[in-house]
Amino acid sequence: MNKKQIVIIGGGLQGLATANALVERGEEILLLERESDVATSTSFANAGMMTPSQSSPWNSPSDIAQILAGIGKVDSPMLLKLDQIPSLFFWGLKFLRNSTPKRFNEISRNLFELANYSKELTIQFRKKNNASYDESEKGTLKIYRNSESMQKSINQHEKIFSNLDAVKIIKSKDLIDLEPQLKDIHSELAGGLLFSNDEVGDAYKFCKLLEEKIRNNGGRILTNTKINKILINKGHVKGIVTDRAILEAERVIICCGSWSRELLKQVSLNLPVRPVKGYSLTFDTTGLNNVPNISLVDESIHTAVTSFQNRIRVAGTAEFAGYDDSIHPKRIDYLYRMLETIYPSLYGQLEENEGKVWHGFRPMSADGLPFIGGTKIEGLFVNCGQGHLGWTLAMGSASLLADQVQNQDSKIDISPYLASRSL
Ligand SMILES: Cc1cc2nc3c(=O)[nH]c(=O)nc-3n(C[C@H](O)[C@H](O)[C@H](O)COP(=O)(O)OP(=O)(O)OC[C@H]3O[C@@H](n4cnc5c(N)ncnc54)[C@H](O)[C@@H]3O)c2cc1C
Repeated sequence: MNKKQIVIIGGGLQGLATANALVERGEEILLLERESDVATSTSFANAGMMTPSQSSPWNSPSDIAQILAGIGKVDSPMLLKLDQIPSLFFWGLKFLRNSTPKRFNEISRNLFELANYSKELTIQFRKKNNASYDESEKGTLKIYRNSESMQKSINQHEKIFSNLDAVKIIKSKDLIDLEPQLKDIHSELAGGLLFSNDEVGDAYKFCKLLEEKIRNNGGRILTNTKINKILINKGHVKGIVTDRAILEAERVIICCGSWSRELLKQVSLNLPVRPVKGYSLTFDTTGLNNVPNISLVDESIHTAVTSFQNRIRVAGTAEFAGYDDSIHPKRIDYLYRMLETIYPSLYGQLEENEGKVWHGFRPMSADGLPFIGGTKIEGLFVNCGQGHLGWTLAMGSASLLADQVQNQDSKIDISPYLASRSL
């Protein structure tokens, strides 16, 4: 057995970023992924928005009201399946406990700090490796259909993040200068907020760059390898059981996104993370007219539209439906219709069946914060639960995890994210 080797389970954004951080610090790593390629689960076709500006948890009274309104409704942007209620009960109580205005503000500030740190590390990675992954530094634009909700957003941003330097308030008449393709709907809009510090990038392409970098630096990555069990002896990690063999290991990091809970349950650790399913629909825009160039969030319909090179992606919806892999046509139809609501001229050139449909499971923690670091089992670490912000938080979370593994101080205060608060 190679006692020094660190085994990382899961090859999505968190697993790959973690492996990269550790390899860069001189550690030997072996990353194991059950699928035939890395990043084919939730890190594959997300909205791609790297948004410190949207660093708020879903633990807010308005989101909860929407979730409850969506009980049993297939065409609502938020759906709660009735058969999921028992498994969500205790998680839901924790979620509600963290929904007071005071907790909401605290959690938002914690996410904001990690998001900014993470974005900084992503830029460093890009510059150091001359990396390109359909990234854009144009920021994100949030549009509002009534002035009250826009003012509420401005107030909330100022109150929580106490600075509006990177937020530009755009009057409705000026929106077209910023994004000419809003011409068809600009009379319906109250205005917008441009978050110039945000970025956009294709998370899957970024993951493939991380994979290449890890391998070039001596890290090992094995795909088609499912981990069925973690072996523990007297409170210490001793190894893992894969679908191929038993492997001895003294340090194991679980980065299995929404599936982390299943592995941890077997060693009597209860991770308060649940899958929240979301969809995206991606169209090739090569040769089309009226293609927008800035990435946008429509506040009123909870939908994100991201402009990549020669592609446009519309993403959103939230289903509390367990690990149900089925694709519901009403969900896809919903996203397609949202494109019409925002960009009717582009919509007129797109056929619904030409869009690439994807779904993923956001690993949503009950308190809106990720779980990073060691557990009560010696040698067992986790990095998961980044929820709807897993791309935004990936590089920062990985760096904090590497600090924990190496017993080093972190550049930001790690205490809000420590896994030991539950595990
Ligand atoms: C519709 C949608 C839009 C989103 N948009 C954004 C956005 O714009 N910005 C943002 O910041 N975030 C966004 N997110 C969230 C982000 O995509 C996720 O938080 C992130 O991808 C989670 O990464 P992960 O590595 O934790 O999980 P995953 O990407 O799911 O990776 C976990 C990996 O572990 C593997 N695995 C699981 N169990 C085992 C096992 N037993 N053995 C071996 N391997 C295993 C899985 O196969 C998988 O590859 C979005 C999510 C969705 C669904």
